[in-house]
Amino acid sequence: MYYNYFAVAMVNYEPGQDRNVAALNILAMCGGFLLFMTREEKYMLLAIKEAEKASFKDEVPIGCVIVKEDKVIARGYNQREIKNDVTSHAEIEAIRKANKKLNSWRLVDCEIYVTIEPCLMCMGAIYQAHFKKVIYGASDPKGGAISSSISFKDIKNLNHYPEIQGGVLEDKCSSIIKEYFANKRKKKL
Ligand SMILES: [Zn+2]
Repeated sequence: MYYNYFAVAMVNYEPGQDRNVAALNILAMCGGFLLFMTREEKYMLLAIKEAEKASFKDEVPIGCVIVKEDKVIARGYNQREIKNDVTSHAEIEAIRKANKKLNSWRLVDCEIYVTIEPCLMCMGAIYQAHFKKVIYGASDPKGGAISSSISFKDIKNLNHYPEIQGGVLEDKCSSIIKEYFANKRKKKL
């Protein structure tokens, strides 16, 4: 049975496809239950993997990946505490790497995947970099700048507005954060 899933995954493999996504495809096929994941969900899984790295380092677990032409070009996770840098949000970490990789501040044809709704600072950077699309997992009622604290699309007279898709693997993205804070509270007791 697993051999069949593997064969289907190999058939679906596209030359040039990101190796991690290809590996996820194979795992998804073998797992069966992940068989019908969308491409947004597959990339969000990689962002979740970044969030887990942050959690491992006792940072608020938020992760991000940047995708261009169906390839991951940069990854990042929240490192505000480690770096003592208020700008070291997952998105900014990934954006810096993407800028370096493409040798350009313009990320015109790129999509940014982030586990939690971006804050105002990150939406500012996403706008400045001319991202094509923002895909996020869970909303952030206290600091989200897409549809929570602020609605980015309601900011007037901007030159462009990225396409937005929220709620991708929302439960998983939000449970990582909830678990992190629950563990923090337990340690304090
Ligand atoms: Zn942010």
